[in-house]
Amino acid sequence: MNDIKLALLGSEGAGKSAVLVRFLTKRFIGEYASNANSLYHKRLSIDGRQLNLEVFDPCSQSGESRCILEEPVDWADGFVVVYTISDRTSFLNAKNILAQIKESRRETCKGEVPICLVGNKQDLCHSRQVSEEEGRSLAQENKCLFQEVSAAENYLEISNLFTKLIRHVMEQ
Ligand code: GDP
Repeated sequence: MNDIKLALLGSEGAGKSAVLVRFLTKRFIGEYASNANSLYHKRLSIDGRQLNLEVFDPCSQSGESRCILEEPVDWADGFVVVYTISDRTSFLNAKNILAQIKESRRETCKGEVPICLVGNKQDLCHSRQVSEEEGRSLAQENKCLFQEVSAAENYLEISNLFTKLIRHVMEQ
């Protein structure tokens, strides 16, 4: 059994918990109040390999602060960095988080750190503040996977995204 550890990072309200719960349960949770760091476990099979997945979802009262990043950045094998397409501040925060991950992992990691940049709340595209192209460019600059999703409306894209990221971790 392979153990895979992922961490979700991003601004408070970006939809980290919604994205994760959608992946784990196929359901959308409208409101999810968590004042604590949460660790989720899931057993899954990818490409015939049994995996024991652990996902760290930090409580995001202070998503911008550096200290909240340190613990998951040291612990995780891969990262899901979430922003909201209708909130430019969350996109700028995602940019900082990517820089911090790269900086922290520079010395320890020989290959690329497996990261997926996720533009969430695609269903709110009428109030979009971040273009898909901007998201894609930021992902390319940081050599990470990229996908716009809606935790409110879609399961398949989110599931595919986690699968791709897990494959990337397994290749490391
Ligand atoms: P977190 O603080 O990053 O974990 O964010 P949450 O998962 O708690 O989500 C914050 C708010 O955004 C909640 O009210 C969710 O219902 C809402 N939300 C999350 N994902 C989506 C989405 O894809 N579309 C819309 N319209 N709302 C979403």
